[in-house]
Amino acid sequence: MRIEEDLKLGFKDVLIRPKRSTLKSRSEVELERTFTFKHSGHSWSGTPVIAANMDTVGTFSMAEALASFGLLTAVHKHYSVEQWQAFITLSSESVLRHVMVSTGTSEADFTKTLKILSLSPLLKFICLDVANGYSEHFVEFLQRVREACPDKVICAGNVVTGEMVEELILSGADIVKVGIGPGSVCTTRVKTGVGYPQLSAVIECADAAHGLGGQIVSDGGCAVPGDVAKAFGGGADFVMLGGMLAAHDECEGTVVEENGEKLMLFYGMSSESAMKRHVGGVAQYRAAEGKTVTLPLRGPVENTVRDILGGLRSACTYVGAERLKELTKRTTFIRVAEQENRLFGQ
Ligand code: 5GP
Repeated sequence: MRIEEDLKLGFKDVLIRPKRSTLKSRSEVELERTFTFKHSGHSWSGTPVIAANMDTVGTFSMAEALASFGLLTAVHKHYSVEQWQAFITLSSESVLRHVMVSTGTSEADFTKTLKILSLSPLLKFICLDVANGYSEHFVEFLQRVREACPDKVICAGNVVTGEMVEELILSGADIVKVGIGPGSVCTTRVKTGVGYPQLSAVIECADAAHGLGGQIVSDGGCAVPGDVAKAFGGGADFVMLGGMLAAHDECEGTVVEENGEKLMLFYGMSSESAMKRHVGGVAQYRAAEGKTVTLPLRGPVENTVRDILGGLRSACTYVGAERLKELTKRTTFIRVAEQENRLFGQ
């Protein structure tokens, strides 16, 4: 046993220090980024925020809505090939350019993903997602997907440490997904005691990835637009959101009524709710590592997206970053013992 003594930080432990700026208005801030990915060589431009591949967030409707803002959607893995075919037939080109096809690591996942990708050459992104990206099986699966799809952008995870980011990039990942335990409906830290404060994970993993010409996604833990700014400030190339995009019209979630109020179910993909829905229940040998919550309906997602992007533009203005690309360079975090004034709630 060993104890690492240096302090690891989450979003709540810091604020971004304001800096002198020549920007006159937040409308001058450019949030669009262009990446050319390491293995696939594919070039993509857009706003690097991604809807999480959860079955009540990463939906086809969400992809339609977010693509109009240049955002990506990691479409969840539970749609059938036929549903994908129908979506592709109905969607315009720009939507498909903003879609990631999610997959797990089973043989059935592999076959299905190749079938989906063969439906349209515009589908360029694969999101290879497991709760624990440290397993040898996962690395071997990644290598296999890279061999089968040399021209696709592979986003793989989740991990939280530099050495594993390097291993995944060297095994074929263009982008590594970073985050174990910070999610809004995640109970991994409670059930297993395993995790890593998200901001430190992002800072350390970004450094490792960038050293090899790869990118990272900060996945999980953003509760407010300021957290998204902190993730980018810490070095994330992309930020993935679940809870912040939940309970909108586009979520395709189950609506229940409690005391006359309409609420939408939102749950972790390893929760009992998700396992019951997709695999018939929680297997005997495992514990659920996600929770289920009911949330007031939030209407169309576009208002929330404007709020997030507005916050991000404002953060850039406060530190004098003309482009999102410059935010990390312009960021100095200060460690704090307070965040917002809670006198009147959120
Ligand atoms: P959020 O933005 O809601 O804080 O975090 C979203 C992320 O939480 C997802 O992208 C995924 O990585 C993670 N997540 C989703 N469902 C579960 C779950 O049931 N258990 C765990 N441990 N993580 C989850």
